[in-house]
Amino acid sequence: AKGAGRNRFSYFTPALQVAAQNRMRLTNDLRSAVKGDQLKLYFQPIVHLKTGRVVKAEALLRWQHPQRGLVSPLEFIPLAESSGLIVDIGQWVFNEAVRWVQRWRRDIHPEFQVSLNQSPVEFQREGGSYDVWLRTLREMDMPGQAIVVEITEGLLLDASTMVTDKLLQLRDGGIQVALDDFGTGYSSLSYLNKFDIDYLKIDRSFVSNLAPESSDMALSEAIIVMAHKLGLHVIAEGVETASQRDLLAAANCDFGQGYLFGKPIPAEEFDAFLADRLAI
Ligand code: C2E
Ligand code: CA
Ligand code: CA
Ligand code: CA
Repeated sequence: AKGAGRNRFSYFTPALQVAAQNRMRLTNDLRSAVKGDQLKLYFQPIVHLKTGRVVKAEALLRWQHPQRGLVSPLEFIPLAESSGLIVDIGQWVFNEAVRWVQRWRRDIHPEFQVSLNQSPVEFQREGGSYDVWLRTLREMDMPGQAIVVEITEGLLLDASTMVTDKLLQLRDGGIQVALDDFGTGYSSLSYLNKFDIDYLKIDRSFVSNLAPESSDMALSEAIIVMAHKLGLHVIAEGVETASQRDLLAAANCDFGQGYLFGKPIPAEEFDAFLADRLAI
């Protein structure tokens, strides 16, 4: 559309133009957020269903925007990816997560684990490797097992050698891998065998419809049996009611995560939450 020349903006409707400007402004804000202290790491408990103990937590990123308030990661992670800021952000999340898990392995449970999310773009980005992470762990005298990386199914479906190599690198460093949002994507089961995965997270959309004899119950039960046969542990996401928890526990699901056990809260608050529970 060279000939369109200076009229090229006429391709945009005003609404699209506003949206594009918004994105640009938010991306610029994100750049200063990374430099400043507007990023916050929240933690949500992951509960061992048989004992009720909190032995893991998922790190969830928050952006405290000076004017807009809390911005959802669903909104700013895509901006971080397209702008390349995701590299610094991912490193920041890792550093924070390691700092906290070190403390919780000392104070709460020697095998406490923190899981963190890696979007497909983040995981597949050119040239990236986990060298820095593994070095950080070594320097802090922390075993890789303290960290779980959550990835999504789509990544494994078209697994390039780059993806395979990175998974191997994590594994060699002792870092564990969880398959997030299981059941929402392509759900080809063959890659569960092909890749060395430690945890399978049943997506909230199944958990929210759990009822005795329901089809989502049958599906969840089948997923759990299959996962166990393949040597994976299962984490159910989005557990909001005691009845969902009980059905999952009866189906031998290993771990639960959801508002029933606790919403994501700032790291300092989560630290106090863990200490309170330990005192019981
Ligand atoms: P996710 O990895 O599937 O994380 C679970 C989401 O479900 C979180 O939303 C959590 O707050 C929410 N959740 C947990 N329990 C319940 C429940 O019982 N009911 C309901 N309705 N929701 C529940 P959140 O924190 O808004 O994060 C959204 C997504 O943003 C995450 O989905 C993850 O894909 C992404 N994300 C978050 N932090 C990071 C990060 O540090 N890096 C990357 N790359 N992505 C992140
Ligand atoms: Ca996740
Ligand atoms: Ca998830
Ligand atoms: Ca999800």
